[in-house]
Amino acid sequence: MFQLKKQLKIALVAHDRRKADMVEWAVYNADMLSKHQLICTGTTGSLIQKAMNDKGVDVEITCMNSGPLGGDAEIAALVVRKQINLAVFLIDDLNSQPHEADIQMLLRQCRIHNVPIACNRYSADLMITSSLWDSDEYVPKEPKYIKFDRE
Ligand code: PGA
Repeated sequence: MFQLKKQLKIALVAHDRRKADMVEWAVYNADMLSKHQLICTGTTGSLIQKAMNDKGVDVEITCMNSGPLGGDAEIAALVVRKQINLAVFLIDDLNSQPHEADIQMLLRQCRIHNVPIACNRYSADLMITSSLWDSDEYVPKEPKYIKFDRE
């Protein structure tokens, strides 16, 4: 099994209709995820915790508030403080959410602070298996916001 040397702080958030996907993904990657620190919105975290317990896997999970009550905002604040290495955010793109503003804030702060954010399982799998995490040479380039003159 692929195993990173570096311990990551991984944020996991799933909207209600994506929770089954998130739990399945977490269980599939249980051994790998148990080596990292997981920071979750409330309900997502408790579901992952239960699934990991059922599988007999010990994992460190910090639960924030539930998403609609500010959990996404709390995770966004951790992103701003550089306390998240990677976020997996399974968004329900087919139904509107009461906390749309917080969702956009979390996505925006990840972009601004150059935090990798996977919004589907395929991206999540690619990101957690990247050897770049352990590279001594690779330095992520920060985004540039440069005025562009057409003329
Ligand atoms: P939840 O929050 O894990 O507490 O359900 C996720 C969300 O809806 O943002």
